[in-house]
Amino acid sequence: MNKGFILWFTGLSGSGKTTISQALEPELKARGCKVEILDGDVVRTNLSKGLGFSKEDRDTNIRRIGFVAHLLSRNGVVAITAAISPYQAIRDEVRAIEPNFVEVYVKASLEACEARDVKGMYAKARKGEIKGFTGIDDPYEAPPNPEIICCTEKESVTECVEKILSKLEELGYI
Ligand code: ADP
Repeated sequence: MNKGFILWFTGLSGSGKTTISQALEPELKARGCKVEILDGDVVRTNLSKGLGFSKEDRDTNIRRIGFVAHLLSRNGVVAITAAISPYQAIRDEVRAIEPNFVEVYVKASLEACEARDVKGMYAKARKGEIKGFTGIDDPYEAPPNPEIICCTEKESVTECVEKILSKLEELGYI
């Protein structure tokens, strides 16, 4: 059985977490890994349905994602999580329960994410139609020591995927 691990993406909305995780999935599968993506938006429609965006609810959402990712990982699955996960303390909590934890900071400036505005959320947040939007009127704590940083304003999706794969090779996960 391949070794399971958690590949934990964190970054602002629109930074590229979903895009990179989806591009990475077939590459990992081609290397014999079982892969499950826990995408923030998808999780909020089922596992965390009913939770809002208060600090408490965000923490609960991330703890749930971490718990499920941990169960997958210990059964030999590569659990990719793609949620904003804005708070360092909760990311560290997950790291503390998971021996095989790789943090990927998907880095893009607020300006770039806002210009992309993939889901039209930034425009709504600026108009005050969405309250407590990460980066606008809610904090985002960038990780101080991630294993990998993908700078999506400078690096293409392919470059980000290559960078992650080579780090995973270096760490002995694939
Ligand atoms: P998130 O999941 O972080 O909210 P998405 O993946 O939904 O972000 O959106 C990121 C947007 O940025 C997409 O429109 C994607 O095409 C674009 N993009 C541009 N360059 C990159 C890159 N290097 N990596 C990932 N996404 C990129």
